[in-house]
Amino acid sequence: MNRSNKVVIVSHCILNQNSVVNPLARAKGAFDIIQPILDRGIGIIQLPCPEFKFLGLTRKPMTIEEYDCHDYRRLCRTLAEPVVKDLLEYKANDYEIVGLIGIHHSPTCGITGGRGIFMDEFIKLLIKEDININRFEIPACDLDDKWDELKEELVKTFNI
Ligand code: SF4
Repeated sequence: MNRSNKVVIVSHCILNQNSVVNPLARAKGAFDIIQPILDRGIGIIQLPCPEFKFLGLTRKPMTIEEYDCHDYRRLCRTLAEPVVKDLLEYKANDYEIVGLIGIHHSPTCGITGGRGIFMDEFIKLLIKEDININRFEIPACDLDDKWDELKEELVKTFNI
């Protein structure tokens, strides 16, 4: 079968809400936002969950300022580097990197506003390697009745 030669990059918890701070999960498992990506045969690269790796499943909610220390930045950079290396390999072989999906207001995976620590390190590396990709964020609100609207926005933002 022909592959799509397209990939999208997602924050870990978009596919696995079991990794978020307890009790902040907003789905049993994966977010419904991935449906249009699956429908179009686009591959999904799941980023690691830096907070899980740093403080585990019993961590408490923390702010960007509380996370922003040398050890956490170093961990985020260390986690981001191999992903960027993989993306370079995809690019070198003419794959399309369709977009990046983060989590708005997360101290780690927020993209706009107060940028999270991991996204800050990851995006710095992407810029350094001249990898420009569309970005999309899952809003911080209750999502139950918003999926259709969000999916439409995602399709437009990623032009898929
Ligand atoms: S660190 Fe990122 S991937 Fe992990 S739970 Fe928070 S927003 Fe999701």
